[in-house]
Amino acid sequence: MTIDATRAAGLARLADFVPRAGRAYAAERNHDRGPGDRANVSTLAPWVRHRLVTEREVVEAVLARHSPQAAEKFVQEVLWRTYWKGWLELRPSVWGRYWAGLEPVLAGLNADARSRYDDAIAGRTGIDGFDDWARELVETGYLHNHARMWFASIWLFTLRLPWQLGADLFLRHLLDGDPASNTLSWRWVAGLQTAGKTYLATADNIARYTDGRYRPRGLATEAIVPDDDPVPPAAPAPTPTPLPSGRVVLLLHEDDLHAESLLPAIAAAGAEVVAVAAPTAGERRSPVAATAEGPARFTAQALDDGRDRAARALAVPAIALDGLEASVIAAAAREHRATAVVTPYAPVGPTRDPLDRASADLATEGLPLATALREWDALAWPHATRGFFPFKERIPALLRTQRIGLDRG
Ligand SMILES: Cc1cc2nc3c(=O)[nH]c(=O)nc-3n(C[C@H](O)[C@H](O)[C@H](O)COP(=O)(O)OP(=O)(O)OC[C@H]3O[C@@H](n4cnc5c(N)ncnc54)[C@H](O)[C@@H]3O)c2cc1C
Repeated sequence: MTIDATRAAGLARLADFVPRAGRAYAAERNHDRGPGDRANVSTLAPWVRHRLVTEREVVEAVLARHSPQAAEKFVQEVLWRTYWKGWLELRPSVWGRYWAGLEPVLAGLNADARSRYDDAIAGRTGIDGFDDWARELVETGYLHNHARMWFASIWLFTLRLPWQLGADLFLRHLLDGDPASNTLSWRWVAGLQTAGKTYLATADNIARYTDGRYRPRGLATEAIVPDDDPVPPAAPAPTPTPLPSGRVVLLLHEDDLHAESLLPAIAAAGAEVVAVAAPTAGERRSPVAATAEGPARFTAQALDDGRDRAARALAVPAIALDGLEASVIAAAAREHRATAVVTPYAPVGPTRDPLDRASADLATEGLPLATALREWDALAWPHATRGFFPFKERIPALLRTQRIGLDRG
């Protein structure tokens, strides 16, 4: 597949997939037919992860073509992303602990575990399927959802490796590597998200959904839940804060690159965007190793596309920033005589931390950094307090408030 990290390419992929997003998706989505045939899934995640194309747009396009009943499964899958984002947003310490724990977990591997880890990441465990998925991950930056589940389950319960190191491997190599979906999916497989519920891969299930390509032998028959701190109680969800008026620099980042849909709210506050800025590269996805080349390139191109597209739409200069430090942002704002900076709300993850630091430093210089929270997130995230089942009950109301799919009843 050609990987073009632009909104235009994401929209083209969406348009191509929409006819298959109804009952065909529900019936076929669980089959991993291998890297040569991904027609039964959308492969849209890298574009949606950076919001080159928004969840709202994906759901809207699908419901313009299919009835809510036919598209129910696909819409629910898209809403898993929103749910995981919301869940982590309400419990940021789960991310903080994961990140801070990576170095000690890696350093704490004994010689046996270290050799299992080295074999796993190099795809030389001898486990049928697993080794191919390890290579596919590194070579393509994509794995089918079911392969992600099997891989994580074998990593945890057969190879007895720490979930954090598997999550780190995925996050650094997936084009759609996402702090919330990835960390929480790994925790879900491990049995840390839903008390007592683990995901144990079986040879029969793998053989069935890979159409007989793989039937690994010797898989664990018991899932032992790793030790972990209890899940913290949910904090209140973020609420929209007032946006500034006057001359502002719009600061884009890798978590939200569809500025066009935020502009009406910015204009309504009385702000005039005088320049659009974005860093030239994504943030580090791991404290222990570099982001793989494919995702690093995808993110950098996505940032260019988001910044240049917004600057063109507004007919203002585009500024390529060397990072998200306060001094870099302040220099761009001063150059354009801006009195404030507006940025899309950055959810919990590697981008949020430098933005929080920059915000505090900029405030001391009298340059406010305001965040624009999307209505989609503001409406959905407060419901991510428990499991996906109660969250999913809220989807019809969310779509009604967003005026999506109403014409089809
Ligand atoms: C261990 C593990 C790690 C994962 N890590 C990531 C990750 O880093 N980034 C990521 O985007 N997804 C992750 N997922 C979720 C899911 O596997 C991918 O979103 C999906 O496979 C992407 O392929 P697609 O676009 O073809 O999906 P499709 O089946 O076409 O689904 C449509 C869209 O719905 C969303 N979606 C579908 N399934 C899920 C899900 N389970 N959770 C969240 N969103 C979903 C995605 O935006 C996807 O593009 C992970 C799942 C597991 C089990």
